[in-house]
Amino acid sequence: MSDKSVEDYEREHRRLLEQVIAETRETADLTGCSKLSEPVLRALAAVPRHRFVPPAQLAWAYADTPLPIGSGQTISQPFIVALMTELLALDSRSVVLEVGTGSGYQTAMLASLARRVYSVERIPALAEAAERRLRELGVDNVEIRIADGYRGWEEQAPFDGIMVTAAAAEVPPALVRQLKPGGRLVIPVGPPQRSQDLRVIGKDESGASHSHSVLPVVFVPLVRNLEG
Ligand code: SAH
Repeated sequence: MSDKSVEDYEREHRRLLEQVIAETRETADLTGCSKLSEPVLRALAAVPRHRFVPPAQLAWAYADTPLPIGSGQTISQPFIVALMTELLALDSRSVVLEVGTGSGYQTAMLASLARRVYSVERIPALAEAAERRLRELGVDNVEIRIADGYRGWEEQAPFDGIMVTAAAAEVPPALVRQLKPGGRLVIPVGPPQRSQDLRVIGKDESGASHSHSVLPVVFVPLVRNLEG
């Protein structure tokens, strides 16, 4: 547990924002993104990360690192969450699919930027905890489903943006199919337990897709079966 006050968390949250802004600038040569947009910065400032980490991790809630959230999964590093959100280029009309709800932290960021967020998580305990947190924070434009996100969410497709927060061995074809023309898919691609390639896949108005690599990243694997 942590005996930090609201003011302590607010101070640490502000420091984290500064760190993320600096890291964005320092990685610009690699990522092509030197500055986070105002809406993404506002979303990063608005979502209280300490509400998404387990009690044992509260001391590090505003550290710019991934943290364990149980079931062998992690809440992502805030810099990576901010960068991936920026790369999706959402606006207030966007309908988004997220694969890998986890703690719900990234979900909350997406929900504050987009019109509607559909999020898929394969581990029921994580999906239920995330749903509860989002409800407590008054986030009401998110729907979470317990399923294999490799197949996307056919009934709600197509999407303006799709974000995958687990590493896939290859880009799931269903996700590319479920993207609107003009939409973007942000996904780490590569082998588990090693560094992967964060990719942005865009679909142009003619329906053709094109991909570029942004940054080496390390994510937990996208697991195909629902159990185990
Ligand atoms: N964005 C989350 C990251 C969680 S880690 C956060 O910041 O909290 C990745 C998540 O993807 C894990 O919760 C894991 O259970 C989930 N996941 C892995 N494979 C999946 C699949 N095929 N479908 C849905 N969720 C999956």
